[in-house]
Formats: sequence, C-alpha cells, structure tokens
Amino acid sequence: MEGKIPEASIKCEARRTFLALCSPKTRLLHEPVSDPYLVCGHPNPAGLGDAGRFSQMGSWGQSSVLFPKLETYRTADKCGRAPYGGAEYGVPQTPEADAVCRKIAALHRGHGAVICPSGLSAIATTLDAFSPKAVLIPDNVYGPMLRFLNRRRIKPIRYPAGASADEFRSALLKARSEYSLREDLLVYIEAPGSGTFEIPDIDGMIAIAQNAKLRTVMDNTWASHVRFQPLERGIDIVVQATTKYEGGYGDTPSGIVIAKHPQDLQIIADELRATGNGAVAPMTCSRLYHRIDSTEERLNQHAHTAQRLIEWFLKQPFVTDVLSPTLETSPYHERFQRYFGKGNGLFSVVFPPDLPAKQVEAFVDALNLFWVAESWGGHLSLVLPVHAKREVTPLPDGYILRFHAGLEDYQDLLRDLNQAAGCL
Ligand SMILES: *Cc1c(COP(=O)(O)O)cnc(C)c1O
Repeated sequence: MEGKIPEASIKCEARRTFLALCSPKTRLLHEPVSDPYLVCGHPNPAGLGDAGRFSQMGSWGQSSVLFPKLETYRTADKCGRAPYGGAEYGVPQTPEADAVCRKIAALHRGHGAVICPSGLSAIATTLDAFSPKAVLIPDNVYGPMLRFLNRRRIKPIRYPAGASADEFRSALLKARSEYSLREDLLVYIEAPGSGTFEIPDIDGMIAIAQNAKLRTVMDNTWASHVRFQPLERGIDIVVQATTKYEGGYGDTPSGIVIAKHPQDLQIIADELRATGNGAVAPMTCSRLYHRIDSTEERLNQHAHTAQRLIEWFLKQPFVTDVLSPTLETSPYHERFQRYFGKGNGLFSVVFPPDLPAKQVEAFVDALNLFWVAESWGGHLSLVLPVHAKREVTPLPDGYILRFHAGLEDYQDLLRDLNQAAGCL
C-alpha cells in the first residue's frame, strides 16, 4: 500500500511534465486533476483551486474562515490570504473565484482578473475604480451602461456606432477640450455594439487613445475570449458578462474584469474590497470554470445555427434587412473578418416600416421554440424587440427584433419560424 503512493506521484510528475508541453487548451482542461490523490479521483471536484486543500466539498460560500491563533490570523491579514489558501474572510474571492479568474486571465493573456456578480457589476466596478468625469462611449452601447453613467453623474460622450478612426478622433478631440486630465476621461469600446452590431475601427481607436494616453476599456461580451482578445490588441481592461457565452446556460450570473497592467488590477481589486461587490457563489464559479472549456464549440454551433436562420429570414418577403456583420453585404463585414472571423448566435431582423407592429408581434407570439427573454448566450433560442436610444447614429426604420440562436437542432427552429410566418 505504502509503495503505491510514491509510484503514483511519479506518474503525476510525468503527467505534469507532459502537460507542460501541451496546448493551453489541453493544459487548462487537465489543470485541476493532474494529481488524482488531491481530488480523490474525482475529475469535477466541487472545490476548485485552493478550496480542494481545505474541503473536498468546496467552500460553498461562507463568511467565517477559522484560525487557531491570533498569530496565524495576523499573518493572513497582512497579505489577505489564509494559510489554507483563499482569503482570510470568506465572502469575497473564494478559492473557486480565484481559480476561474486565473483561468480567464490566462486565456486573455492578462495580468489578472476579478469576478463580479454580473456583467453590469463588472462594468460598474471598473468605472467606479477609476471614477472618470466623462466616458467616450459608442452610440450603440449596452443600454444599462447609460443608466449607470447617469446615476454616477459621469458624462457620456457618444461617438458613432461603427465609428471610423476619424469619427472617433473628432469625438475625442471635442471631449479633450473639456476633460484634459488623463484621469478624467476614459475610452470605452463595445464591439459589435448591442442590438444592431456595428463594428468600429477598433485598431484605429486604440492607436488614437494610446496617443492621447487615455485608458481603454472594452466590453467583450459579444465575442468572449474565443473570438477576440482585446488585451493583445492594446486595450488596457476587458469586461465580459460571463453570464452569456462563457457560462452558456444562463446559470452563471457573473462578470469578469481582466487587466493587462498590475497597477490597474490593484485599483480594481481595491475597489471590490472596498465595496464588497466581489461576492460570487462558489457554485457559479465552479460551473463557469468548466464551461469556459466548451465555449468555442458552443459558439461555433450557435453561429452555425444563426447562419441557417439568417438565410431563412433573407428569403422572406416581409423582411427589409438582417443586421449581422457576418453577412458579406454588411458595411462592417471587412472589420468583422479582421477582428472576429466567426459569428455567434445573435442577429437582428428589420421589418418594413409599413408593416403594422401588431403583425410582427403576432409572429413573435406564434413562435414555440423562441422564448421572449432578455439576456442571451444560453442553450435556448430567444427573441426580443430592439429599443435602442441613438443620438448620433440613425437606427434603421421599421420594427427590429433581435434573435439569439440556441443549441437546438436548427431544422426544428426553421420549422418553428415557418409555421409562425403564417401570421405575416
Ligand atoms: C448582457 C450584457 C452585459 C451585462 O451582463 P449581465 O450579467 O446581464 O449584467 C454587459 N454587456 C453586454 C454587451 C451585454 O450584452
């Protein structure tokens, strides 16, 4: 019996050496279980990262972390970590949260990451951490972001959806005349933008922002780490609603902030510590940790199904336009190919301005597989009207519906669309 363990340890060592030569994807898949003795042979331990060391069940989320003596408590207090791993206080940054943050930071080649309870709270945490007076935002920014800026009295300065470098430069110059200090102005990019999916000249904007020495933040929720790595292109901070494609089933409400520079990460981590907004259930983190590995396969399936649905819509007489940068006819197709290469499950359909809203809504209500719902990125197909408030970029005329293609068999989705089209 005793001889068995060293032998097994040798095998673990060999496995680790082998894994070190594998692709990042394979390494991330095997990382938590390269030594089966640590996890009792369970490939999916509930406790990830350091949690495995102090509880095979994972930390579940608990407030008190126990110390035998004042002295051990004081040692932990200095660095914020308990001798068992994890934090000295159990509510924020559990070992599971640490594990998922390390994984996603590695995928983005960032210095590090923090996790928040939602995508919106990841955005809010980032903005609160740097507290600018004004933010340059795209006209097609995620709606709740505007509500947040308004609430914090941060001035939104809009540049056009799908801005060219010149359009962005003139918005920036105007903003700089009023906000000349670096700390007062932040550059925010979201691409493709919400609802209508315009894509700006991201590389051009980054160059202009860097020239002006401004901090850049990008909401990368549409793309996820699979389709786009903003830090590699020169962005300073990435926010992602991991509620969407990383989690994939709508059961991982969370958001991640990934920073390229250590000093930015520290400022964001300090903000989380000050507000307590970093408390995310260990179960959510464990789910996310594993789902990240299949994001690419799921995204490809969402994208494949979306293309089949788009083809169907383009053939219908009651459709004016389909908004998707994946289409060769899209004015953003060239940028789409340069930055993202492949699509996801999202696209919007524009109906003729003279088609009564009632009829479009009857079509939506006749659908069986598409649920009317907010959020997206999960296994179920969804539909929702687009009500965007644009100030500098006109919206297409007519009723607009945003669709999200789920993981259902696309033939079933097509049958559903065909039967509902009887209303139109
Ligand atoms: C959904 C979404 C968010 C917010 O995510 P939640 O987890 O729902 O708060 C942020 N940005 C974009 C682009 C989104 O689509």
